[in-house]
Amino acid sequence: MDTMIQKRNIAVLGSTGSIGRQTLDIISEYPQLFGAWLLVARSSADLLIQQARQYRPHMVIIADERYYDYVRDALSDTSIEVATGSAAIAQAVTAPEIDTVVTAMVGYSGLESTIAAIGAGKRIALANKETLVVAGELITRLLQDSPSVLYPVDSEHGAFYQCLVGERMQDVEKLWLTASGGPFRTLPRERLETVTAADALKHPNWSMGAKITIDSATMMNKGFEMIEARWLFGIEPRDIEIVVHPQSIIHSMVAFKDGSVKAQLGLPDMHLPIRYALGLPDGRLASDCRKMAIEDMANLTLERPDFDKFPLLGTAYRAARLGGTAPCVMNAANEIAVASFLQNKIRFTDIYNIIDKTMDKVPHVEQPGYDDYVESNAQAREYASHLVKETKN
Ligand code: MG
Repeated sequence: MDTMIQKRNIAVLGSTGSIGRQTLDIISEYPQLFGAWLLVARSSADLLIQQARQYRPHMVIIADERYYDYVRDALSDTSIEVATGSAAIAQAVTAPEIDTVVTAMVGYSGLESTIAAIGAGKRIALANKETLVVAGELITRLLQDSPSVLYPVDSEHGAFYQCLVGERMQDVEKLWLTASGGPFRTLPRERLETVTAADALKHPNWSMGAKITIDSATMMNKGFEMIEARWLFGIEPRDIEIVVHPQSIIHSMVAFKDGSVKAQLGLPDMHLPIRYALGLPDGRLASDCRKMAIEDMANLTLERPDFDKFPLLGTAYRAARLGGTAPCVMNAANEIAVASFLQNKIRFTDIYNIIDKTMDKVPHVEQPGYDDYVESNAQAREYASHLVKETKN
């Protein structure tokens, strides 16, 4: 990249999470190119304070109001502005100084601020896939009327993006979405009844936050990524095929109508897709990171996913076909079920039932506006919470 390029101010939403921390690593790697302007955390007050002292943003927001006084007092000797609450986040991302918004918060909570960033015409590095799962139709519509551009941070979608550079969408036959298969890929199906949160948190390849690691164990994450790909690339769900690739070296592939297939490869390290997304649209950022060796790609395998063992894959395709608020309801039920599983309130396999029953119960809205998503999300959470209480552990 040319050193004459103006330094970009970055807003990191979810700066204390796994993607947020790695985004700050990339900002540190290229101090001449990037600066942190806004840092937002939900409740990790101490880490947010530490990040504020290191990166000297213009502003920090602690979403959970209980920590506001604590953060404000800790930074009172600096000129850093401190705010709290979700309305403050949606307001702050529209600041004219901000060039790029990295959306790395967890779950549904990312929706409101992403919509605000689109409204303000920001460049968005999208790590919060739930935004597109919940409200893909609405986000796609909003993007059509905005100079805002979405760049994927998810490694698979970064791979699709790279495979599609210089290609025409009408030449694409299908997308092959790779999945590691998670920690239970080789576990017999009946053993899934008794796995614990600790078992599910041992992901073989990727180091990630707790919520996405459980989503990876159920393969809900791959269902979400199918829906994310559908909206990012304007592809029908039936033209997205999931393929299990346990080594996580091929990050995804695109098959073209002439029989060619392009794949993007790299080490399983989220710094790579973050670095690529932050370099867009100008180009790739040279790095001293560890590079691939022949040994890293000497034993790559691919297999079909097991839809019987991982029923949430089928659930995700069903939600995608239904459209409207169905994916929003699925996401909300999943958030409740995963949080409950992490607290050992329900079994791993109860997650499926809670999602399916919630999807059957909550009324479907065919062509939702923003308020319909808010309403469906609330209804689904309430019903899923009720199901958790009824579940005998
Ligand atoms: Mg991914």
